[in-house]
Amino acid sequence: MKNVFFPNFAVASVLELGVDRLRAIGAKALLLDVDCTLKEYQKQEPEPEIIQWLRSLEDSGFRLCLLSNGVGRRISRVATALSLPFVAKACKPFPRGVRKATRLLGVEPNETALVGDQIFADILAGNLAGATTILVKPIKPEQERWFTRIKRPPESIVVKSFWKKCPDGGWSGISQN
Ligand SMILES: [Mg+2]
Repeated sequence: MKNVFFPNFAVASVLELGVDRLRAIGAKALLLDVDCTLKEYQKQEPEPEIIQWLRSLEDSGFRLCLLSNGVGRRISRVATALSLPFVAKACKPFPRGVRKATRLLGVEPNETALVGDQIFADILAGNLAGATTILVKPIKPEQERWFTRIKRPPESIVVKSFWKKCPDGGWSGISQN
């Protein structure tokens, strides 16, 4: 049985998630955590190469939605700047927000990949909802609020044990061009 704290896959950055890789794992839609996954917590929007990555996925037909525990006003500003739909106050690790986002996009959880940097929020929520989960290394986690930072040491135990079990991030056996 799958460990509910383990992601299906892990990468250093979202930029490693190319179209072929995402198609190979059967993802039609991506639910994207915002802070430390797409952008630094204190920045208003992602770096240009990440915005370019988002556009290239959209151009290839992937449905995208931001999925954040952040408050509506702040996340809606990011979503508007990126022209993407969003679910804020998602209450991750509970799966409710994931289901709301899949309904918004008109997809099923099992054809959805949830991409995020926190085990005890993103990965747990995605696993509980039945989505494919992809862990990314957090961008500048030292900028985050204290109640997120205190979760990092116990998370790092899970992350280390995942990498020990899956040194390739879970990607071996996935055909990628
Ligand atoms: Mg995050």
